[in-house]
Amino acid sequence: MTVIVAGGGIAGMTMALTCHQLGIPVVVHESVQKLEPLGAGINIQPNAVRELFDLGLHDQLDHIGIEAKEWALVGRNGNDVWAEPRGLDAGYLWPQYSVHRGQLQMMLYEEVLQRLGSGAVITGSRLDHYQSHDDAIEATFVNQSGEELLEEGTVLIGADGLHSAVRAQMHPHEGPPIWGGPVMWRGTTEAVPIRTGASFVLVGKLEQRFVCYPISKPDPGTGLATINWIAELTYDTSQHWGQSDWNKQVPTSKFLNEFEDWSFDWLDVPELIRKASVVYEYPMVDRDPLDTWVDGRCALIGDAAHVMYPVGSNGASQAIVDARVLGAAFVEAGVGADALKTYESQMLADMNQLVLRNRGAGPIGILGLVEERCGGVFDDIEDVIPRNEIEEYMSAYKMAAGFAVDALNNAPPTIKR
Ligand SMILES: Cc1cc2nc3c(=O)[nH]c(=O)nc-3n(C[C@H](O)[C@H](O)[C@H](O)COP(=O)(O)OP(=O)(O)OC[C@H]3O[C@@H](n4cnc5c(N)ncnc54)[C@H](O)[C@@H]3O)c2cc1C
Repeated sequence: MTVIVAGGGIAGMTMALTCHQLGIPVVVHESVQKLEPLGAGINIQPNAVRELFDLGLHDQLDHIGIEAKEWALVGRNGNDVWAEPRGLDAGYLWPQYSVHRGQLQMMLYEEVLQRLGSGAVITGSRLDHYQSHDDAIEATFVNQSGEELLEEGTVLIGADGLHSAVRAQMHPHEGPPIWGGPVMWRGTTEAVPIRTGASFVLVGKLEQRFVCYPISKPDPGTGLATINWIAELTYDTSQHWGQSDWNKQVPTSKFLNEFEDWSFDWLDVPELIRKASVVYEYPMVDRDPLDTWVDGRCALIGDAAHVMYPVGSNGASQAIVDARVLGAAFVEAGVGADALKTYESQMLADMNQLVLRNRGAGPIGILGLVEERCGGVFDDIEDVIPRNEIEEYMSAYKMAAGFAVDALNNAPPTIKR
């Protein structure tokens, strides 16, 4: 009995650790030859932090990330639209962490190697195709020299991300990811954290916005922390931006002029952009929801199943939760096709809704309401949107994304031990 995982990202590594915790043999094939800490900042919501803690990764997470304390939306005029506490400060039993995506992936990878041994991850091995049989599944991988390796297992889990080869075989007529107009530029800069010192702050309006939050603890000597930032502009979809690639580096001159006058006495946007060492460009894409993630003994998890706009900070969180829910299904139904269906029946409908909700701006849709009602010009937000309306909006989002505080705090562990 072996679980074959295609893709060693956040979903794939969490799947491997979960199988190991359950005593299920597992092997991960990752297409890149050498895993490196790529990407920029991401948030791990309390529902996913709970799962990582249940995998015994409390100290490791604490080491690489910082506990987020606040989530705030600020108008272009510098006035608060909304600010709410996050993590433990919001009453969750688990924190929310802001981390560097690459450091999270490397931390999970190192844990897999330590707990399962070096043979558990085969790098430079790209899934080419699979064949599902009644009693087993065959997955064909290709290494960097073009040689094929046939792996036979009980199930194949497609955790191969945005451009998933597993999904392409399962849904051959789907086509490329869909770009709806927004382009984001991401970078990190050493600077003094603002507001609570661990605040996620989004400034602007839907079509032009700037997000920043720290992803490291401040240096005790200088007070500087690594600040993750994202500058975003929305374009007409008739323009061409090419295939979305998380690692495409560009000069700041491509977008800096659009943010040149975004300076406040508490935040200097152009300065943050200018001081970044590297900037990545990413046209924000998603895919239409699918009617199934399962084909015989093969299932999709993470971005391969439901890549979504990163407006709710839940892509990585959901990848972690998927792996855990699938692990629980292995416990309930045994490792096989039935477990894959159990997992799908628990997740698919909700995730499909979340993909569409994020396409419609997710929690930051509030900024759309502000624009609609006052053109973004206000002194006191209460005159534009009553507090309870925003509260309801935010609660509905958290419920849909699986991190409503009471529901999460009262839920039993995903995997009972
Ligand atoms: C290099 C990189 C940088 C990123 N940077 C950011 C970021 O800055 N901000 C953000 O919000 N999100 C980023 N993401 C996306 C984010 O990691 C995911 O949305 C989220 O973590 C879900 O994880 P996942 O494991 O499903 O997918 P991913 O993290 O994308 O992992 C998929 C893995 O599968 C591997 N793979 C792909 N095809 C195959 C194949 N055919 N066979 C075997 N392996 C394959 C990939 O190399 C990758 O390691 C990045 C993803 C990558 C790969």
